[in-house]
Amino acid sequence: MRRISRRNFITDLGRGTVGVVILGAAVVGCSDDNEVAGSTTTSGLDPGTNPSPSLAWQRVSFSSVSAYVLARGSEVAIVDTGTADVGTRFDDAFAALSVGWSDVDHVLLTHLHSDHVGGLGEVLDAAPEAKAYAGEADVAGIDSPRALTPVNDGDEVFGLQIVGTPGHTAGHVSVFDEGSGLLVAGDALVGSDGSVGGPSPNFSVDIAEANSSVAALADLGASTVVFGHGDPVESDVAASIDSLAQSL
Ligand SMILES: [Zn+2]
Repeated sequence: MRRISRRNFITDLGRGTVGVVILGAAVVGCSDDNEVAGSTTTSGLDPGTNPSPSLAWQRVSFSSVSAYVLARGSEVAIVDTGTADVGTRFDDAFAALSVGWSDVDHVLLTHLHSDHVGGLGEVLDAAPEAKAYAGEADVAGIDSPRALTPVNDGDEVFGLQIVGTPGHTAGHVSVFDEGSGLLVAGDALVGSDGSVGGPSPNFSVDIAEANSSVAALADLGASTVVFGHGDPVESDVAASIDSLAQSL
């Protein structure tokens, strides 16, 4: 529990509080065994001592943006909700992870742009038990049918570390799973021809701050990075982000 105790847990999680703490403990116990897998869920753990499997993820493609489904066994978090044409887009990801809408407990929004939150209403309708979160400075700018829980750098949701990455928007956050090394960067980074690119100057409210936020992501030591725009990168990730940060 040492690693958990120094984190800034969200205290007002209602029914989710116990689950978050348990999952956080699981991450501490299995950081050497986890693996990020797009289509498989691998535990590698003694179920008698640690019931939580490692994180598996799936990409959900919209026409110009991606959302992500993150699952620990049958517990699910969605990161970003795409544009306002959700329809059946999540179905293939759910099937690959053997989960469904009723398993979705958390909906994390990286930032307020409409291509990332446009589907929020549909998603929350489909997942009525899910709690939704966004960076504190972006919450007021997001139209949501249910109250959004504000998050800040250092918070933890579903065993996922919230990393403040302001600049693209004031409240932009990225999401990192320490156990598997998966980083969901939103628009704090972009995928560019199989490599890691910096935030877009054209769409960032403060590009200097956005560039500075890349350094925070470099420090994570991620092994896989996925983006709002562009294809995931799964090799030389930490070194690529680090060299990018130094070039900006
Ligand atoms: Zn954006």
